[in-house]
Amino acid sequence: MSGLYIHYPFCNNICYYCHFIKTKYNKDKNNRFIKTIIREIENIKKYDRIFETIYFGGGTPSLLKKDIILIMDNIKKNLNLNLKETSIEINPEDIDESFIGFLRKGEISRVSMGIQQMDDRLLNLLGRKHSSSDIYNATELLKNGDFILNFDFIVGIPSESEYEIEKIIDFILKYQPDSVSVYFLEDVRGKYWERMEKLKDEAKIKHFKMIEKALESIGIKRYEISNFAKKGKTSIHNLKYWNYQEFLGIGPSAASLSNKRRWKNPDSFKLWEDSVFQNRDDRKDEYILTDSDIAKEAVMMGLRKTDGIDISVFKKRFSADPLNILRKILKDKKGFFEIKNGYIRIKKRYLFIFNSLLAELFD
Ligand code: SF4
Repeated sequence: MSGLYIHYPFCNNICYYCHFIKTKYNKDKNNRFIKTIIREIENIKKYDRIFETIYFGGGTPSLLKKDIILIMDNIKKNLNLNLKETSIEINPEDIDESFIGFLRKGEISRVSMGIQQMDDRLLNLLGRKHSSSDIYNATELLKNGDFILNFDFIVGIPSESEYEIEKIIDFILKYQPDSVSVYFLEDVRGKYWERMEKLKDEAKIKHFKMIEKALESIGIKRYEISNFAKKGKTSIHNLKYWNYQEFLGIGPSAASLSNKRRWKNPDSFKLWEDSVFQNRDDRKDEYILTDSDIAKEAVMMGLRKTDGIDISVFKKRFSADPLNILRKILKDKKGFFEIKNGYIRIKKRYLFIFNSLLAELFD
């Protein structure tokens, strides 16, 4: 069964650190997006898939407001569904009573709120539009909405101290969400950031671990490099990526993995729109995967999980031995891995250096 990713490309405000494909919201383009995505939903009927997860990502999909219902109605009308989870990313400043009503009517089951920080000075520094009081207001409304609730944070920001991390921890302990994502601020460039002194790696890791410890104290455990959840509340859609399962992406720039191929929709809104209405199926960066590519990619994705890879399941699914795929890396870096009870995993404390540890995998 597949996952469906829907990329909504607009934001009201462009944050200073953002590397996602997005552009400034305007009403006319938003209306064109709705029309085009509805047509794309019809176009992908031809794949004849059963979808068990839907994920609205962006951009800022909470700007869809009541159109979320229209899109969900079209999905239900056109696609085969056996839904286990329907997620949306939201920004705190967009949440009010009526939006909660739209989410309910659209049968959204999981809401992921981009909080990033609880301190107004750091939110400003990131160029976020919301304030800490918007976060409290939105959370009060969401907590009665019967959604699986995920909070997204970013740590490792220049000038961030333990004081601001304590604010994040207090907030988490007060509202006890179902799951939490904690990302490090990526390597941001440009004059704005160059004026600031970067936070030292030791401080970044210390801040991450402070949050991890607080999460563990309330039963929210790390299950992926950046993701934590209560038992049974892990993201079913995101686990499809880490378990190397099929997903289709719609909307500008959305990525897909299906039928031993990966590809992206055109990044440009206009090219995407033309491609959908002319049913041309334009694909960017289409890549036909060999069995060896697939096995390597599956190892890389599987090792992101704290459980790691079930070796015998992997062998059956991909007709390849993950230990063999990793043999060059294991020769020098065995101490970074744990092979136990039929699983191979990266030891938790080394997940911070995941990319450098696996750099040789695709050599
Ligand atoms: S709201 Fe999200 S997608 Fe939009 S600019 Fe900010 S970080 Fe990027």
